[in-house]
Amino acid sequence: PLRLRVAPSPTGDPHVGTAYMSLFNLAFVRQQGGRFLLRIEDTDRARFREDSEQQVFDTLRWLGLTWDEGPDVGGPCAPYRQSERLTSYQPYVERLLAAGHAYHCWCSTERLAAMREEQQRLKQPTGYDRMCLGRTEAERAQLPGFSPTPVVRMLVPDDVELQFDDLIRGRVSAPRPDDQVILKADGFPTYHLAVVVDDHEMGITHVVRGEEWISSTPKHVLLYRWLGLTPPAFAHMPLLRNTNKSKISKRKNPEARLTWFEEEGYLPEALVNFLGLLAYPPAQDAEGNDVELFTFEEFSQRFDWSQVNPVGPIFDLKKLDWLNGVHIRELAPEDFAARILPFLQRAGVLGADPTLGELGRLKEVAALIQTRIAHLTEAAELVAPFYVADDAVEVADDARAQLGENAAQVLDAATAALTEVPDEHEGVLGSEPTWRAEAIETALRTAVVEGLGIKPKLAFGPLRTAVSGRRVSPPLFESMEILGKGATLTRLATLRA
Ligand code: ATP
Ligand code: GLU
Repeated sequence: PLRLRVAPSPTGDPHVGTAYMSLFNLAFVRQQGGRFLLRIEDTDRARFREDSEQQVFDTLRWLGLTWDEGPDVGGPCAPYRQSERLTSYQPYVERLLAAGHAYHCWCSTERLAAMREEQQRLKQPTGYDRMCLGRTEAERAQLPGFSPTPVVRMLVPDDVELQFDDLIRGRVSAPRPDDQVILKADGFPTYHLAVVVDDHEMGITHVVRGEEWISSTPKHVLLYRWLGLTPPAFAHMPLLRNTNKSKISKRKNPEARLTWFEEEGYLPEALVNFLGLLAYPPAQDAEGNDVELFTFEEFSQRFDWSQVNPVGPIFDLKKLDWLNGVHIRELAPEDFAARILPFLQRAGVLGADPTLGELGRLKEVAALIQTRIAHLTEAAELVAPFYVADDAVEVADDARAQLGENAAQVLDAATAALTEVPDEHEGVLGSEPTWRAEAIETALRTAVVEGLGIKPKLAFGPLRTAVSGRRVSPPLFESMEILGKGATLTRLATLRA
């Protein structure tokens, strides 16, 4: 049975690359049937961040990229945090030492730094010079640059195999590795040892990870061989790039942080769709046109390693913005209202516990704006005017500046016309509501556009400002319908005053 994993390091805000790797792992697992594991690689204590692990859980769950085994859900190979597996690495180190595939190294960090500097100055290849190889602790202690707490290094043979097979790239060549440290002075394994031991103990069949690990794979293959274990299959995904081809990184790109997408009002299904278009060709319809819109299930069904493009894909946010708008419009209206609610609460438009009345109104307003936004963050500005007191609509400066000399005349004519629109409510037996957008529009067109001879754009500007305080708002007549007659007239009167 297939077993795949994603293995993020909790070193800060999760990287968008973690979601991207998870998507490709999971597309394959769900297609083939198998299990997807989440393992936390927290052996680098210097870069460890307390809240990072929870952010990994939250962001991947938000995307629907969920795991069958992991630190929070358990599983047959628990624990799934490397810091809780420290005792399992030691026997492997002992075996490697006993077989002469590994050796202790007592060189101090100062000595190693000086050695590296000297190698660079002489333009020699950098790498450990094996000063400690074949020496006992006592012998080594006589020489300079000795540190009493040793590390353990791999003894990489001259004839190390540098090629391996990759599901995406075919036969791959990597550079010759150094005598890599596998056990650190603090007793923690390095990534290289821990990844091999854990992938073995967790029964991982396919390792899918970023291409920056290609140069490490020969070391991992050596460890597998020395320990008498069968290596998994490898797939190295191309790294995501900026338009200038540089690799996207958290230090330079806000969008490299996975939490950014939720904050910016992207839908998880849009981000998954977008990630699935990176390094992978879109599907084709019967006429041979690209089908760029898809769900995870559709992606998973047609997934094939041979289709993954090894060239680093450009992370084009414009494309994501477009996809997000499309996915927003595809949501069922109630779902859309539910998705914007947290953004309205964050912006203070609605409180933590909205009333039924407020939620009822939200459904109506949401229907007006669903086709008008590309990010959920845009909702608050458009929705806010529906939740303010009618005599306290805040008028934006640009809207006020644009009112024009006809404003008073327009407001008066509109007020008179709207006063005449009957307002019979739903629920009154046998009657339809009469305060409807169509009736409002007819009344206003007759009174203001035709009656005063003012062009619609100029005629409706002041009304829009009265109702919403903004130059840009949801459709005017529908907004008036939702607000109700009394509220609309109060708003017109307030701006007029
Ligand atoms: P930075 O991106 O600034 O280097 P970081 O040091 O936190 O931030 P890494 O630790 O290098 O990032 O990587 C974290 C995870 O994200 C790794 O699994 C790595 O494979 C993945 N990753 C990093 N950069 C990219 C990228 N450009 N495209 C895809 N995945 C990436
Ligand atoms: N902890 C490593 C990372 O975050 C895992 C790499 C791998 O998948 O082997 O990149």
